[in-house]
Amino acid sequence: MATPVRVRFAPSPTGYLHIGGLRTALYGWLFARRFQGTFLLRIEDTDRTRYVEGAIENLYRSLVACGISPDEGVVVENGAIINRGDKGPYLQSERKEIHLHYAQEMIEKDVAYYCFCSAERLDEVRAQQQLLKQPVMYDRHCRHLTQDEAKKRVSDGETHVIRLKVPVEGSIKMQDLIRGGIEIAWSQVDDQVLIKSDGFPTYHLAATCDDHDMEISHVIRGDEWVSSLPKHLFIYQAMGWTAPEFAHLPLLLNADRSKLSKRQGDVAVDDYLNKGYLPEALINFVALLGWNPTADREVFTKEELATLFDITKVNKGGAVFNVEKLDWLNTQYIKALPVDDYLARLRQGGFMPEGIMHERAARMIQERLVKLSDAVEVIRETVECSDYPATMLVWKKSTQEEAVMRLQATRVYLAGKDESWFGNLGAMEEQTRAWIVEKGWGNGDTLWPMRVALSGREKSPGPFELLFVTGKDEGLVRLDAALQKMA
Ligand code: GLU
Repeated sequence: MATPVRVRFAPSPTGYLHIGGLRTALYGWLFARRFQGTFLLRIEDTDRTRYVEGAIENLYRSLVACGISPDEGVVVENGAIINRGDKGPYLQSERKEIHLHYAQEMIEKDVAYYCFCSAERLDEVRAQQQLLKQPVMYDRHCRHLTQDEAKKRVSDGETHVIRLKVPVEGSIKMQDLIRGGIEIAWSQVDDQVLIKSDGFPTYHLAATCDDHDMEISHVIRGDEWVSSLPKHLFIYQAMGWTAPEFAHLPLLLNADRSKLSKRQGDVAVDDYLNKGYLPEALINFVALLGWNPTADREVFTKEELATLFDITKVNKGGAVFNVEKLDWLNTQYIKALPVDDYLARLRQGGFMPEGIMHERAARMIQERLVKLSDAVEVIRETVECSDYPATMLVWKKSTQEEAVMRLQATRVYLAGKDESWFGNLGAMEEQTRAWIVEKGWGNGDTLWPMRVALSGREKSPGPFELLFVTGKDEGLVRLDAALQKMA
């Protein structure tokens, strides 16, 4: 590629980072990395009515948490929103004057015009079109005013917008890196508002001018913008600018193939991170929504994905968001974490209180954890010993005397072991079971009282898992307490 690759992620700060937004950002990031390019973050905040306080910080935090920080553009440093790079400002609302200037230039070039139609008039036109089952679009009432007349009304202070003067005949042929060739008839394209009556630009004007000014080489964005592409390309052409290349990403779908929505599950990246999905797993999962570099592998690091990424191989059809696959991937990633990293993440997520027993419980379940938050319940269950009645210690096919006898023997047996013996779950279980057989006892009458003594509960994890967690000292304390109850 001759020109430097510059890809932007351009979210509107209307709340949080959506899973679909994460995929758009990730594909942009992967594409930029693949060609040693730059990944920019631009904030499209010209629609002031939709602005949500804190949304920029949230978006940024989620991107950084997933390891796809922008190289250029809006960054948040020590809580402050700043511009990094020499093509800024990267907050669209701070470019209002630039946009207005371009719109006026378009008027001069006669590819845009002033429109004075009132909201009431536009409502009437719309109602009429709906009645006649015609496509709803502006009827171009003001397109025929002379420039002098229009300018006079503007200088007289009349409320107005600026509209794009798109061709009315023929069609436009466009290239999309994913979809290939697309042709749209101009008759389907509206005279888009470029500058609203409040002086703010619309998305269409702002995004196009900013992509030009920021020297964006590739626009990677959601499918919903395909129908706007003719207007954007028309602006490039009218202004004599070189257009970037475009790639429109297919929709994300629920399992029933409806559009991915909050009603069927979480859609905010934060929700997944807060539940203890590892950012690496989430990124791996999201990368494979609509693309897979090989048929025989599912687990990839971000860096591997970047070397393999090929935007032209992204599927054209919608990609189903399959939570089971995310769960599977997350288990793989948790399992593969070095144990200290794993424990640190549990702590950071607030999923594990401090303490040696909590830590041992956490280690025990690392292999089978689906998400970090699941640890909370299992750790609690294995660590806590509730108060219980003495009768619970007696196995259903046994007697109190037998329970006392077995517990006493178990206590002596365990007291004779080293602390380190309790740290090997497999050997501990094997040897203890052999010891029970040797004694000629049953598993039920021996292991039941032992397990209840260690957990205080009718139902709990197994006795060896509990011993692994309590270790020698606490294990013996609990057995003593049980014997005390039956004394
Ligand atoms: N601000 C637009 C959005 O949030 C960006 C579209 C684009 O990337 O051009 O969907």
